[in-house]
Amino acid sequence: MTNTTQEPMPLILAIDDDETIHLILDEILGREDFEVLSASNGKAGLEMFRQRRPDLLLLDVMMPQMDGFACLEALRAMPGTQLVPIVMLTGADDVDSIHRCFELGATDFIAKPINWPILPYRLRYLIRANQALANLARSESVLRNAQKIAHLGNWDWEINTDRITCSNQVFKVLGLTPWEFHGHRQDLFKTVHPAEIFRLHQALELSKKHGHAFSLEIRAIHDDQTVHVVQIQGETELQEGLGLMVHGTVQDITERRNIEEKVRFLSYYDPLTGLPNRNLFKEILGKAINHCDHHQTMLAGLFIGIDRFKRINETLGPSVGDGILQLFADRMMQVMHNSDYLAEGKEADNSEATVSRLGGNEFTMMLMNIRDMHDSVKVINHILKALETPFNVEGHEIYLSIYIGIAVYPGDGPNVDDFIKNGEFAMNHAHKQGQNVYQFFSKSLNVAAFHRLSMENDLRRAIERDELILHYQPKIDLKRNQVVGMEALVRWQHPDLGLVSPAQFIPIAEDSGLIVPISEWVISTACNQLRAWQREKLPPLIVAVNVSAVQFRHKGFLQSLRTTLETIGLAPEGLKLELTESILLDDFSEAFITLCELRSMGIQISIDDFGTGYSSLAYLKKLPISELKIDRSFIRDIPNSVDDMTIVSAIICLAKTLSLDVVAEGVETEQQLNFLDQHGCDMVQGYFFSRPLVPQEFVRFVRDFERGDKKCDY
Ligand code: C2E
Ligand code: MG
Ligand code: MG
Repeated sequence: MTNTTQEPMPLILAIDDDETIHLILDEILGREDFEVLSASNGKAGLEMFRQRRPDLLLLDVMMPQMDGFACLEALRAMPGTQLVPIVMLTGADDVDSIHRCFELGATDFIAKPINWPILPYRLRYLIRANQALANLARSESVLRNAQKIAHLGNWDWEINTDRITCSNQVFKVLGLTPWEFHGHRQDLFKTVHPAEIFRLHQALELSKKHGHAFSLEIRAIHDDQTVHVVQIQGETELQEGLGLMVHGTVQDITERRNIEEKVRFLSYYDPLTGLPNRNLFKEILGKAINHCDHHQTMLAGLFIGIDRFKRINETLGPSVGDGILQLFADRMMQVMHNSDYLAEGKEADNSEATVSRLGGNEFTMMLMNIRDMHDSVKVINHILKALETPFNVEGHEIYLSIYIGIAVYPGDGPNVDDFIKNGEFAMNHAHKQGQNVYQFFSKSLNVAAFHRLSMENDLRRAIERDELILHYQPKIDLKRNQVVGMEALVRWQHPDLGLVSPAQFIPIAEDSGLIVPISEWVISTACNQLRAWQREKLPPLIVAVNVSAVQFRHKGFLQSLRTTLETIGLAPEGLKLELTESILLDDFSEAFITLCELRSMGIQISIDDFGTGYSSLAYLKKLPISELKIDRSFIRDIPNSVDDMTIVSAIICLAKTLSLDVVAEGVETEQQLNFLDQHGCDMVQGYFFSRPLVPQEFVRFVRDFERGDKKCDY
């Protein structure tokens, strides 16, 4: 027998006190490509074993000093010797020794006298069998480790006996202790969530009856009450002798599910506010649109932008910006939950997911099953009402205003993308119109909304019912560092809709002619207020009132003004009228006459929103005006827009050349203020100093300002 393979030569250690045995072994085994080590007593043998780690041991039972038993015992006590075959050399009839050796861990026995020709085969066989055993043990341990790492266990169900056997890992995965298990199904699956146990048994029964393979995901509740997600799989096999078997695995996939959940969260939710992001909003909207199609219902999407958000971020820092977004999200959720619209208990699927953050300062609110525009307007007014309370972030008290675009399904876009595009279009349109303004995507809906609400009728009664109010926004003279006047801005405290902004109802008032009585009310209220403040000895102030085109051209305009001033007893110098360029230019000669008349009465004229119209030097020179009011769209992007800064400084120069006062409106930041001051702007108005205020607050503001504790009013 020659060693034809490349295997290393097997190493045999023979421990025997008989020298002859050693000589023969050397001769015979050497020829057969074994390497033989010889030790003539137990002690020397143990030492040699320790040093060389042979593949097999031949151990004589009968030796002086340390006999074979003692040596065997010592060998088996050495770590790592369990799998080394130890072959005992005994006398043929020495059954007691054989028995004892076996107990002590001997692998095999060779009787003396030794049958030399078959010895090499016997040893080779033992070594091979042992190697196979070692390999098996190794691969079992690898498998066990792999299963442990993968939290995977395997089980086998023998259908004939209805008994299950399983690996230890199964107990770990299912949260059981091995002694709780006696081979029965109900023991094995007793930690499975009650809601899922039926499904599992059903799958097992089906595989038993029809040989179906199955894969289920169930929850197992462990002793410590932790819930684990477990995947159970099974396959059937017909085994000879055993009949039908179902082989299966259980695997704890909780961690994987958690990671998947995290990934899903990140790709579907905005981490800052926890609201659905654009992706998820699109999914929700898609489902909602289907719902509308099936049930013939309507939905409205409110696309909400936070005004001046970029500026808040820039001036107060991103952490304040983040805080604002979080609080804003909370408030939107509160509105969602508290709105009457929702409280009416419609079947709509008003899940929390209906408020989303599309990105940056843009949010959406989706209103399912609305009956008409009224519903969305009502919710909007709840939103506006919620924003009347300031947001407190890191010690700053911040008021937010918003702009809202509304898209309605069906009508404003046949699919998700178009619907969003149109909603955002309406939102951007609303942004251009001012603060707290909303805009329907479809013009007809804009009009319809208001007609539905019988806005006109309501407006007609608004004056009698005392629903109109004026807010006053201070105007600061920068050189004198003093409050020199205020702009009166009208609001409508609607009984259902809350505070309605002038941008919303002035156009209706103009269309319906209601602007005339409304304007008369505004002028007389503003003049009365100023007169009252004069009596209260507030510093000298000029009140500015906005005049609309219809009012300006109305025949009774001048006469009504005269009467009002006389009745109240206010000197006309205390009143300033704000007109837009278009009012003057549409019918220049008419306008010119009216302006001259006003001037002669002593009333001052300011050109509002200057820069957005013709801004022609020719007419400016001719007209009897006293002030230019730079439109806030030019102030907004200072100091980022070089163009705007150039325009603003040019308007200031122009005003100086024509000896007109110049006011900047919409001043929100210190940088804007400094820029305007450096370029010689006389007066400013805007949130930096104050928002429009109710009369009592205005008085407080003037007093505080006089004392020098003015503050930035975001
Ligand atoms: P306007 O005359 O240009 O008024 C300035 C608008 O800008 C006001 O909006 C004011 O609240 C807002 N504003 C003031 N400072 C800032 C600021 O720092 N940042 C921002 N983003 N906005 C600021 P409001 O009160 O909503 O009025 C909108 C428009 O409605 C007014 O524009 C005016 O054209 C009209 N309006 C207001 N009251 C009356 C009125 O009694 N009669 C008429 N005919 N129109 C009025
Ligand atoms: Mg104005
Ligand atoms: Mg203006």
